[in-house]
Amino acid sequence: MPAGRYAPSPSGDLHVGNLRTALLAWLFARRSGRRFLIRMEDLDGRSIAGAADRQLADLAALGLDWDGHVLYQSTRRDRYAQIIAELTAAGRTFECYCTRREILDAPRAPHAPEGAYPGTCLRLSEAQRSERRTGRPPAIRLRAGVTGFTVHDELHGSFTGPVDDFVLQRGDGTPAYNLAVVVDDAESGIDQVVRGDDLLTSAPRQAYLATVLGHT
Ligand code: GLU
Repeated sequence: MPAGRYAPSPSGDLHVGNLRTALLAWLFARRSGRRFLIRMEDLDGRSIAGAADRQLADLAALGLDWDGHVLYQSTRRDRYAQIIAELTAAGRTFECYCTRREILDAPRAPHAPEGAYPGTCLRLSEAQRSERRTGRPPAIRLRAGVTGFTVHDELHGSFTGPVDDFVLQRGDGTPAYNLAVVVDDAESGIDQVVRGDDLLTSAPRQAYLATVLGHT
């Protein structure tokens, strides 16, 4: 059965903004006969001990119920690594040695979207690559092959946003948010995403990656 979801980060206690998102996601899922799933996005270092349990207890106390077990992304690291290995085997990734500063300072094509990866590490010679390899471990980026993608959103309509060679795995080995969301949404049968519109501009990247992985 298809599902909707609420996917908080356990970086603090539930606040009214989270609750608004959770309530709307729950209403949309339940009203449309979907399952309602909860996923804890606890991959990065911002997780605070006990916050996930307190958030779940607060949701339950307010009467929001969910189906099945809560999925913790930290239990899925092997799966994300496997997907990245498959993308790499298919020639869809590259190693990136850039620092944040280098990305900000790099020259860009005139119409490149703000913050888009400038392609620096795609153009390295073998010599430059081995020289940079001696430094800190690389991030792994997607070879996107498109510059934009369109999603359909109930509120915003047809929304086209930039897709760049975004990060799939950070230099410290942590799977990136955009990768984990796509893999988990697809593998949990989620076909309805209700969330804060600060994530609208991430949706085209995620939807594009879903198609690369063979999902709708
Ligand atoms: N964990 C993200 C957040 O709390 C939301 C992720 C999502 O909805 O895809 O902002």
